[in-house]
Amino acid sequence: MLISEDEIQRRIDELAQEISTDLRDKDPVIIGVLKGAFVFVADFCRRLDFPNTIDFIRVSSYPNSVVTSGEVKLELDLAHSVANRHLLLLEDIIDTGLTLQYLKASLGVRNPASLRVCSLLHKPDNNVKLSTIDYIGFSIPNKFVVGYGLDYRGYYRNLPYIAQIEEVQ
Ligand code: 5GP
Repeated sequence: MLISEDEIQRRIDELAQEISTDLRDKDPVIIGVLKGAFVFVADFCRRLDFPNTIDFIRVSSYPNSVVTSGEVKLELDLAHSVANRHLLLLEDIIDTGLTLQYLKASLGVRNPASLRVCSLLHKPDNNVKLSTIDYIGFSIPNKFVVGYGLDYRGYYRNLPYIAQIEEVQ
C-alpha cells in the first residue's frame, strides 16, 4: 500500500476546501476523466456546497499494459457544451502529461471561461511542468499504481487505497 484510505480522504478534504475558495459562485463544470477518475469525482463532488454540474470525458491510455503507447484517443466526449463555463478537470493521475496536453487542447478550443486542472496523483519524475497542474493531491514515485479508480487490466479499481504493483512485462 502506498497511500491509505484515510490519507486520501483527508487530502480530498483539503483540495475541496482550496478549490471551493477558487470556484464558489462560478457555477463550474466538473469534468471527470474516465475511467480512472470516477471514484475521485464521486468523493470530491460530495464535499462541494455550492452549485456545480458534472460531466465526463473518456480517453484511452495504457491499454492492457503498464507502459504508455504514446497515443491519446478520445473515446467519449462531453455531453454538453462548455463554452463560457468555468471548468475543473479532475484527473486520476498525471504521468507523462500526454493525456493532459491533449485534454487541455481539446477543451481549450471550446472557449471555456477558465480551465483548472486537479490531479489526485502526479509522478514528478516525468518532467511535466508543475505550472500546468493547478491542484495536486499527492506526488508519488515513478511506479505503476492501482486502486481508488486506477486499474491494472481492468482490475483493482475498487480498492479504497492506492497500491503499487510490480511491473509485469
Ligand atoms: P499520461 O498521459 O500523463 O502519461 O498518463 C495519464 C493516464 O495514464 C492516466 O489517466 C492513467 O489512465 C494512466 N496511468 C498513468 N500512470 C498510471 C499508473 O501508475 N497506474 C495506472 N493504473 N494508470 C496509470
